[in-house]
Amino acid sequence: MSTVIVVGSGQGGFQAAASLRDKGFSGRVVLIGDEPGVPYQRPPLSKTYLAGTTVAEKLHLRPEEFFATSEIELVSGRVESIDRANSAVVLEDGTKFEYDHLVLATGARNRTLSVPGAELNGVLTLRTRDDADKLRSALEAAKDVVVIGGGFIGLEFAAHAGRPVTVVEAQDRLMARVATPEISAHFARLHEAAGTKLLLGKGVTALHGSGGAVESVELTDGTLLPADLVVVGVGVVPATELAAEAGLRVDNGVVVDEQLRTSDPAVSAVGDCANFPSVHARCATRLESVQNAVDQARFVAARITGEAVPYTPVPWFWTDQLGAKLQIAGIGTGYDHIEVSGDPAAGKFSVLSFMDGVLVAVETVSKPSDHISARRLLAGERAPTLEELRASDFNLKEHLKTLVA
Ligand SMILES: Cc1cc2nc3c(=O)[nH]c(=O)nc-3n(C[C@H](O)[C@H](O)[C@H](O)COP(=O)(O)OP(=O)(O)OC[C@H]3O[C@@H](n4cnc5c(N)ncnc54)[C@H](O)[C@@H]3O)c2cc1C
Repeated sequence: MSTVIVVGSGQGGFQAAASLRDKGFSGRVVLIGDEPGVPYQRPPLSKTYLAGTTVAEKLHLRPEEFFATSEIELVSGRVESIDRANSAVVLEDGTKFEYDHLVLATGARNRTLSVPGAELNGVLTLRTRDDADKLRSALEAAKDVVVIGGGFIGLEFAAHAGRPVTVVEAQDRLMARVATPEISAHFARLHEAAGTKLLLGKGVTALHGSGGAVESVELTDGTLLPADLVVVGVGVVPATELAAEAGLRVDNGVVVDEQLRTSDPAVSAVGDCANFPSVHARCATRLESVQNAVDQARFVAARITGEAVPYTPVPWFWTDQLGAKLQIAGIGTGYDHIEVSGDPAAGKFSVLSFMDGVLVAVETVSKPSDHISARRLLAGERAPTLEELRASDFNLKEHLKTLVA
């Protein structure tokens, strides 16, 4: 194989290009991205970069020289279409790049609010460095800040905004899509203690303003919240337009098989845009995390260079809020039993989720060694059962030792 084109120079695209070189790929590698500058990481954007304690250069995944020395052609531009018949991608300006293999790493874009007033000035989202810069300067001038969405991004913003904000969440608890009620309750307590006003179980019906600028947020119960800055964190949608227009199978993401190949074997997809059969989710799923983008990109690079095993890494996620680090190993969707180990009041504990008596996910709060043990346990040939973990008093590290002994 002589040329691999990677579309999207975010976390997954960068990793695919870099891993091809790590694996000894000697052909041409072209990494095409539509954001300015060298590839950068997003997690600090809603954390230390927002808070002003991480500078822009620290976001870079590698310095500029890396791309020249690794012979990765970094192309700035937007890919407009994929011409599968001629194995080529076409940029907005008409430039064509032919490929032997194409990797789609187009990520996701923020879901917008579909309520009147969503387009007013002062209504912002957070996905890119550019968004974070806008938010930082808006924060300096803003008086009343309302965050719509109590998921990871909204809560990280609230935790790092440097001032009390109001968070409106339609579900009756925080991070409901990804965390157990015990974790939601713990983080609600932390936020309230820090001065965040939490309005749970409330939808937004409209944003009101004057002179084109937002002034208030109207809730489903009729409440009007004053707001001159509204941060919308209501999830993302996968960037699948290119794939769909090229006739690839798309269904909540670009559909790939267990080797991360799309419906065209000359095209792979990785990261936020890919819907893959996950052994750990027990179904086809799309994950939005650095681990997923990086591991999938490494996997595709290895496959292109000749390694062929199904994709199976344990998914894991993290968020930093108000001095607490939540780490999640595995996917707990559909769990039917949980056990809490450690002391939530002391701010260090783990929640173990089971399905049919078998461990499927572990959430840890400020217990990194439990998180690492959980990842190793879930990666084993057989995840431990409730009975087995009870026998070692839910001590994940001790249980792990019994397996390797
Ligand atoms: C604020 C924020 C905080 C986060 N914090 C965490 C965290 O703490 N932990 C964690 O695990 N994950 C976190 N994430 C999620 C994580 O950053 C993403 O899951 C990861 O970046 C996905 O990588 P990706 O390569 O799939 O997509 P992205 O990194 O989004 O990269 C996709 C790139 O493709 C480009 N692109 C799309 N279409 C085209 C086209 N047609 N032509 C050219 N370029 C194109 C996009 O502009 C983008 O640059 C966070 C995300 C955000 C936004």
